Amino acid sequence: MSRAACPESSLLTARRGDMCYCPGCSHAAVLESLGAAMDRMGLRPEEVCIVSDIGCIGTADRYFSCHTFHGLHGRSITYAEGIKRARPGMSVIVLIGDGGCGIGTAHLVHAARRGIGIKILVCNNFNFGMTGGQHSPTTPPEARTATTPGGAVERPFDICQTVIANGAAHAGRFSALDADLSDKIEAALRSPGFALLDIWELCTAYFVPSNKFKPTSFLPLSETFGLPLGLLRDMPTEVASTHQPEPPLTSRPSASPPSIAALAWPGRREICIAGSAGQRIRSAAGVLGEIAVAGGLFAAQLDDFPITVRKGHSVSELIVSDRPIRYSGVDRPDLVLILSDDGARRLGELSSLPAGCRVIADAAVTLPVIKASLQFIDLASLEKSSGRASAALAALCLGVLVQGWLDGPTVESAVGALGGRYVEGNLAAVRAARGCFDETARTQPHAALFPEAAS
Ligand code: SF4
Ligand SMILES: [Mg+2]
Repeated sequence: MSRAACPESSLLTARRGDMCYCPGCSHAAVLESLGAAMDRMGLRPEEVCIVSDIGCIGTADRYFSCHTFHGLHGRSITYAEGIKRARPGMSVIVLIGDGGCGIGTAHLVHAARRGIGIKILVCNNFNFGMTGGQHSPTTPPEARTATTPGGAVERPFDICQTVIANGAAHAGRFSALDADLSDKIEAALRSPGFALLDIWELCTAYFVPSNKFKPTSFLPLSETFGLPLGLLRDMPTEVASTHQPEPPLTSRPSASPPSIAALAWPGRREICIAGSAGQRIRSAAGVLGEIAVAGGLFAAQLDDFPITVRKGHSVSELIVSDRPIRYSGVDRPDLVLILSDDGARRLGELSSLPAGCRVIADAAVTLPVIKASLQFIDLASLEKSSGRASAALAALCLGVLVQGWLDGPTVESAVGALGGRYVEGNLAAVRAARGCFDETARTQPHAALFPEAAS
């Protein structure tokens, strides 16, 4: 669900049943504990960045409404370190699996050594789950996996002692099934220095059935291999604070000099455009974002689309601002464009959209009663004048004109100056939007630009 339609919710926006994990997988429990810990701490979306990489736990960023960053397998620690250096006041939380932790061991060691105050939650289920249950660096001896059918032979990687030996301020080993896991996570988040929790989990698809592994297996595993459970290091705040100095913020984002005529834009404006895959929703948002940046403004775009290219929903959230964008979440959209039923479904609770928001929807879309100002357009007619591939951009431009953020000649000249492979289609879209805007103003000079829809 888009945060645009649920701005007051917890940072964790998904329920367990909506998450993509196998039944009984511990990842959901860890995410719920993390969400509870962040909510108790009163963290706001703009104060948190969740960083993930590949693996089943790498899908978790989509379930949180805060800053998120997703990257290459095992490299999340490096991204987190960079983000924390640039934004020392932000809570930067890495969600990584045992496989990624093995791939990125060097990053782990040096992040601990440097004392960067990132928080790492290792979701350790003793195998690579997403790729079919292969052994990982934490697989214990004799465990059967897809790549150790006769039983693993190597000693498991002691993640906690590795970071403790390299200066971690806070480290502990717990079970995802612990009733008080959210307390343990909160303590790690509150530590001012580098903190890591090795959270033992159940991978119910592979490691559990292959090894008859149970929740009661954690304790003997811990005792047999000298991997103690519990809090293993917790430096006092005064010590951790001086031991783990935060690097200063050395640079702030600044707009590039305009490469087209400079654009005047009224502050920060949040836009959400939703339709079906194949409607070129992301491209439409991209064009507006690109002319904004080329015109000396700031822009941030977040896309949500299914892997299939021509089936399902497609949603883009776009922020355009005349000042640096410090938080890229769309919480209170000024403008929402809904171009298909798929898009409307994906947006979630439209009734939560505030009264000050303008919703422009294709007249063929079925919508619930909403508080926001609702106006209908005839998307088929825009498609006729702009071409089907450019209709989403036409609708977006129309929204910008209706809002009065830019005028028609300015948008057309910016799109023309930007150029590019699709410039003809983009210009056709702008002209279609201008035509619709001007025609409505001409035929209904004393009315609202579009007839307010009965809602
Ligand atoms: S494969 Fe394993 S880790 Fe991945 S979702 Fe399923 S149970 Fe969880
Ligand atoms: Mg794993």
